[in-house]
Amino acid sequence: MNSTKTPSVLIIYTGGTIGMVQNPATGALQPFDFAHILKQVPELKSFGYRLDTITFNPIVDSSNASPAFWVKLVKIIKEKYNEYDGFVILHGTDTMAYSASALSFMLRNQSKPVIFTGSQLPIGQLRTDGKENLITAIEIAAASQNNQALVPEVCIFFENQLFRGNRTTKYNAEHFDAFQSDNYPRLAKAGINIKYNYSVIHYPTHQSVLQIYTKLDANVAVLKIFPGITKNIVEAILNTKNLKALVLETFGSGNAPTNTWFVYLLKKATKKGIIILNVTQCSAGSVEMGLYETSVPLLEAGVISGYDSTTEAAITKLMFLLGNKTSRQEIVDCLNQSISGEITV
Ligand code: ASP
Repeated sequence: MNSTKTPSVLIIYTGGTIGMVQNPATGALQPFDFAHILKQVPELKSFGYRLDTITFNPIVDSSNASPAFWVKLVKIIKEKYNEYDGFVILHGTDTMAYSASALSFMLRNQSKPVIFTGSQLPIGQLRTDGKENLITAIEIAAASQNNQALVPEVCIFFENQLFRGNRTTKYNAEHFDAFQSDNYPRLAKAGINIKYNYSVIHYPTHQSVLQIYTKLDANVAVLKIFPGITKNIVEAILNTKNLKALVLETFGSGNAPTNTWFVYLLKKATKKGIIILNVTQCSAGSVEMGLYETSVPLLEAGVISGYDSTTEAAITKLMFLLGNKTSRQEIVDCLNQSISGEITV
């Protein structure tokens, strides 16, 4: 911890269960005013930090998250960047992994923590997981040593675990431990102490000014293949007007049907310039095209490996690259690299 100055954290409440309290009269859940957060979570006072809050107006159920919503978030972070040591984003859990992935691409030269958290039960409910999540997320956002943030990354903190945001997926709609990161170790674990896994945290090699990228191109789609998928479906998706990139969710290590029509349609699409990125439907492991006969035709059709990417990271990376790179080759080169720690190449 920095002993010389009071740590400061900006809490941005975007919406979601965590900010809800029960109306005692009606029993209905309603958002509470985050300006009064210390009344709701008085434990926060014992940190002695400077804590400020911003509440989105209107608040957003995370099912309504969108590129415009991510742009609003990164603009707030940019505007307030020099005023705070770290940022906590309170967000619905449903699409938190998409938002954390998107921000990991849109914020460049990041040297301060941006920690997403939320909860499965409203903060105003007796057994809430929201208080623990919020308190620890704030502690992580403020943590530093020798003026260097301990976790200068976009992360998700949930149920005692800190994950790299663009490696994370919501996998449980009910349990408190709702997120997992199967292809990358967690960055920290909160127990009696918070144990940071320093060797897997990314630290900037030099200090430079935060840059934000606000152009995203949402002309992308995801196609999860399944046994029996018909030509009509694949054709309809690939012929979608303005489609620029497709995340193809394949079987196992990147395998797909070898039907002539399927491979022909993919090849036709890549020839037209559509980028097709292969990610696995499995929650862990990597695409390895060419390992089985059933993935060789994909390679020949010009499909690009998504390595061990989550679908959330793949789709938001494509939006980011399509919005910011001018040539197809540049995009393909970036897809074959980790640009924010999102894949293991
Ligand atoms: N529907 C809510 C949301 O994602 C659920 C939650 O907050 O976890 O916004």
